[in-house]
Amino acid sequence: MSPPLLKISHLEVRYGDLIGVADVSLEVPKGAVVALLGSNGAGKTTVLNAVAGIATASGGTVEFKGENIAGQPAYAIVRKGLALSPEGWRLFAQQSVENNLLLGATPLADRARIPRLLDRAYTVFPRLAERRLQRAGTMSGGERQMLAVARALMSEPELLLLDEPSLGLAPAIVDVMYDSFSALHKDGQTILLAEQSVDLALETADYAYVLQVGRTVLKGPAKEMLDNPDVQRIYLGVE
Ligand code: ATP
Repeated sequence: MSPPLLKISHLEVRYGDLIGVADVSLEVPKGAVVALLGSNGAGKTTVLNAVAGIATASGGTVEFKGENIAGQPAYAIVRKGLALSPEGWRLFAQQSVENNLLLGATPLADRARIPRLLDRAYTVFPRLAERRLQRAGTMSGGERQMLAVARALMSEPELLLLDEPSLGLAPAIVDVMYDSFSALHKDGQTILLAEQSVDLALETADYAYVLQVGRTVLKGPAKEMLDNPDVQRIYLGVE
């Protein structure tokens, strides 16, 4: 079996005296969609931020293609082939949709790929193609979420990190978004997906991990997790 694209072992992240993540281990095989589940404050965002180099690991390792990238800066990590679509989007509100996408391509060494990548972004999210000249700040929440994902795709990442892409969005938009993730998956895109929405994530993912107060407490094939009563128990906080 080939080694996983991403392997996190015993990750710990501290915010001063507070522990954001205590002990998280997980693997993302190439071509898979892996869901990272957990309720508010479980540590999902912290894990993704540590992988992307936005949060600093105080313990453990983050191996990407066999190299420990923990502690490396975000700009160096994105050049290795990882891109994050963050919670809260962090778009350039005054810039057009297309300019936001082009900014996502900044880490690309080969600028000649940009037209093809723009085409791909607009094929995955046709709604963005209709709005390519609109300022990002005037778009709906769903459209901004699509733009954040599309911008991450513009660096042609081997691993796409998605932080709560359904958060605060209307169900119809969430369906459109998840159809796009399924299409990307079918195309071979590897995805690590943090979600609070369990059913949605498990329907899309191949494999899932559940976090509880900063620790991985459950893992398994997504289809088996759908029927696992422990998943609901952990979410409801019932001991
Ligand atoms: P949510 O769905 O609410 O974003 P999450 O599962 O993504 O939750 P995190 O945001 O990673 O969880 O938070 C994990 C823990 O780390 C929480 O206890 C949170 O209060 C803490 N935390 C996160 N960011 C910071 C920060 N910048 N400073 C201090 N503590 C933080």
